[in-house]
Amino acid sequence: CGIVGAVSTRNIVPILVQGLQRLEYRGYDSCGVAVYADGLKRARSTDRVAKLLNQIEQEHLSGMTGIAHTRWATHGAPAVHNAHPHFSHGPGEGAAARAGRVALVHNGIIENHTELRQALQAKGYRFDSQTDTEVICHLVDSLYEGDLFDAVKSAVAQLHGAYAIAVFCKDEPHRVVGARAGSPLILGVGREGGENFLASDAMALAGVTDQIVYLEEGDVVDVQLGKYWVVDKSGRPVTRAVKTVVAHS
Ligand code: GLU
Repeated sequence: CGIVGAVSTRNIVPILVQGLQRLEYRGYDSCGVAVYADGLKRARSTDRVAKLLNQIEQEHLSGMTGIAHTRWATHGAPAVHNAHPHFSHGPGEGAAARAGRVALVHNGIIENHTELRQALQAKGYRFDSQTDTEVICHLVDSLYEGDLFDAVKSAVAQLHGAYAIAVFCKDEPHRVVGARAGSPLILGVGREGGENFLASDAMALAGVTDQIVYLEEGDVVDVQLGKYWVVDKSGRPVTRAVKTVVAHS
């Protein structure tokens, strides 16, 4: 179970996959990656990360913004349709809705997923998985009014349980938003072209950056090119120290 995310000006898929490989030691039953490439694109597998990489190469998956995940299933069997990243299709039907708008990965357990799912179904959201995670994805989509940071802040306020999440939206392709409570998430300040990263731990970014910001309980982070922004659990902007962390792989 691990998360990697990135906003960059180069194809970031190799770094996302390498990050997943560095997190393999934590154990997992499935894995996946999603990127922005003229819309949301993803590859998911119940096999090893090496097999996911074959799939990525066959499908020529590439993009400058992306999120990746190794899953340790808690809600819903280990299966491709339950593997992350999850996409929100928005309420209703039609090609635009089916193409997906919000992509999300999650580590942890959402305790109030049943109530949230029922409320979202009543709004017209269709569920493609049995996970608690898909609920967060549709919740963010339902709260999205053009600003992903605002939508994620509102969404996490409704969650009970443990989460580290990384989210992006096809309408704001150079932005990834993260949040954590009860599960680890760090920010990596990149060295090249203003790129910035999210990850479960600094080791996932070994060789990529050693400039690490440890997010605190309840933090929400807005990750963009050349800048990032953290608010604490009450929504107040906060400054978190950047530490130099030498992670050995
Ligand atoms: N509860 C989520 C799921 O079962 C996330 C599991 C994890 O931490 O990997 O999909």
